[in-house]
Amino acid sequence: MAKTIGILGGMSPESTIEYYRHITRSYTEKFGDYGYPEIVIFSVSFQPYVDLPAAGRWDLVADGLAQAARKLAAAGADFVVIATNTMHKVVDEIQAQIDIPILSLLDVVGDAITAQGLETVGLLGTRFTMESTFYQDALAKRGITVVVPNAADRETVNRVIYDELVAGEIRAESRAEYLAIIERLAARGAQGTILGCTEIPLLVKPSDTPLPLFDTTILHADAALAFALAD
Ligand code: GLU
Repeated sequence: MAKTIGILGGMSPESTIEYYRHITRSYTEKFGDYGYPEIVIFSVSFQPYVDLPAAGRWDLVADGLAQAARKLAAAGADFVVIATNTMHKVVDEIQAQIDIPILSLLDVVGDAITAQGLETVGLLGTRFTMESTFYQDALAKRGITVVVPNAADRETVNRVIYDELVAGEIRAESRAEYLAIIERLAARGAQGTILGCTEIPLLVKPSDTPLPLFDTTILHADAALAFALAD
């Protein structure tokens, strides 16, 4: 009997939909039928999770997301995937407040980079993701070094996420800017780049560049399906 997947989503809805679509479609592609695991989605109201990080209130972020995760558990979820990179800044604080496991995006991405044998990777994400050390710390444990864009490029990456991607706007000029930033990271030694925001893969696809890209949404959704199906 498969485990029930709990998707803690709404951050933003654009990527939450991708998790749901990918888990269900990839099950059918793999197994040829519609026997995917049960899935519960809890979609938070996003605005507090834009405002609280900006105010530095990560304690309230953790409390709010723990409460949401408990609602997933009460609805039958056996484990949780937090469908955003940024909120993994407080993944340990959330886990400490709930009784079902969180399948951490940081572990999943770390496994994928290790599997490709890369030692230095670039990281694109929200300013909270690029300017905190939670990604660096998680990957350093695996011997992986993380390079982030310079201040001007971080500003561009962050602006495109919050002004365009979370609203479902996909612009060719923003794609070009992202690809230029990925190339600058490569010039600084990044052997690949983490698309470390679950909306970025809506804008930039691995086929847009010969450099290896880590699509955190697909990796996390694949891992959720595999975990649900594992004994
Ligand atoms: N989905 C985004 C991420 O993966 C950003 C939205 C947010 O949670 O602030 O980091």
